[in-house]
Amino acid sequence: MDLLQPIIKPYAWGSRHALARLQGRAAPSAGPEAELWMGAHPSGPSGLVRGGRATTLRDVVAADPERELGTDCARRFGGRLPFLLKVLAADQPLSIQVHPDRERARTAYAAQLRAGARGPYADDWAKPELLCALTPFEVLAGLRPPHEAADVLAGLGLTALRPLVDLLRDSDSDGDGHGDGDGRGDAQASSEALRTVLEWPSGRREALVGSVVDACRRHSSAGGPFAGAYDAVVRMARHHPGDPGLVAALLMRHQVLEPGTALFMPAGGLHAYVSGLGVEVLANSDNVLRAGLTAKEVDVPELLRVTDPTVRVPVVHPRTVAGPGLTEAYDCPAEEFALYRAELAGTCGPLVPGGGPRVALCVAGSVRLRAADGTAVRLGRGASCFLSAADEHVRVEGSGTLFVAAPGVAAPGVTVPGVAVDADSAPARAVLSHPTPPSSTPASSTPASSTPASSTPVSSIPPTKHIKDDNVVHIR
Ligand SMILES: [Zn+2]
Repeated sequence: MDLLQPIIKPYAWGSRHALARLQGRAAPSAGPEAELWMGAHPSGPSGLVRGGRATTLRDVVAADPERELGTDCARRFGGRLPFLLKVLAADQPLSIQVHPDRERARTAYAAQLRAGARGPYADDWAKPELLCALTPFEVLAGLRPPHEAADVLAGLGLTALRPLVDLLRDSDSDGDGHGDGDGRGDAQASSEALRTVLEWPSGRREALVGSVVDACRRHSSAGGPFAGAYDAVVRMARHHPGDPGLVAALLMRHQVLEPGTALFMPAGGLHAYVSGLGVEVLANSDNVLRAGLTAKEVDVPELLRVTDPTVRVPVVHPRTVAGPGLTEAYDCPAEEFALYRAELAGTCGPLVPGGGPRVALCVAGSVRLRAADGTAVRLGRGASCFLSAADEHVRVEGSGTLFVAAPGVAAPGVTVPGVAVDADSAPARAVLSHPTPPSSTPASSTPASSTPASSTPVSSIPPTKHIKDDNVVHIR
């Protein structure tokens, strides 16, 4: 068990209070503090002390992947820790972005290396991510169905937007008047609308964005289903005046995540996180394609290529699993990561999951972790540690809230309702495979294992409640 010294990323959108308070430092901090990184990514590996020597988690894993990750995880992920745990503290909106799937990341990164050119790809991995809200977290996630995007734009009453509204309304491929977002016509219309907005002629861009923001201001106070989305545009415009991303934001689904709920962002899902504090677990990648609301480099053609307008972005409600206190799992189909949360009130028991490489982060209270060999660490609020596969079964005690990231268990072909490309034509069924965490039997397997014994058989998973309301698919 190694206490981690996480890296703070000082991106401009970061808070000067949230991370400082979480870690018990004086606030406000000297500059913005956007992300706390706990992991082994080369762009910011966490520090730690092993055998009295200061090193990084990246070097520790590289020196003995089998010991640190376990044989199975080391083999599955080429000796890399497959996930990165972060705390996001957004005072201002993050860029409008999308992440590639594994195939695109692999080919584009290889092409970039061959060309010897700088480019948008930082590595050859996909970057699915799961954001769990610690405070209400406002997000734009996924593209709206065309008919709804048309209503949002039409609601502003601007002549300049009329062609876009017509394009989106024309997309109703199944002719039922609702444009269900399930036809090729719908996907094409969404892509076309996004392209039109992001490639608006530069000479007329400022006028368009100005009139859209003014109209959003007028309509945000009038109530109605899109008042929140209009208001978000007005607030974002303070940080990014004149940015065409402000118009693109209206094509995206606006929602506020309740604390304790999470958002799973698959490859191809267009998103912009607006504000809030949250724990994020993601594949160990830094591949981000940006289209706006940022001072960083944007790559609109590549973003349009990678964006999949049919991607649904499910809100994930945690599922209670056997473990100390209230232990919950956030189910998602990512192979690279799984996320657990434990609420402890003077409780003691085996930590979930019970093996494999794990990063534990305490966000409230204070807990003590004790490995089988007797070594122990205390985690106060904001502190984190790495548990290697060699630490195996760890006991936890204390009062507080602990997040634990671990490798995922998804097998090829596993889907979550709402993530499938054509969700409406598929029956509502759960084909989510997930580990049965160890309860009082420390001999059970770990989520890093892909043996059948570690996964709940598909047939034994209770029927998934599949509710659609305001664009959110709840997984229960
Ligand atoms: Zn992202």
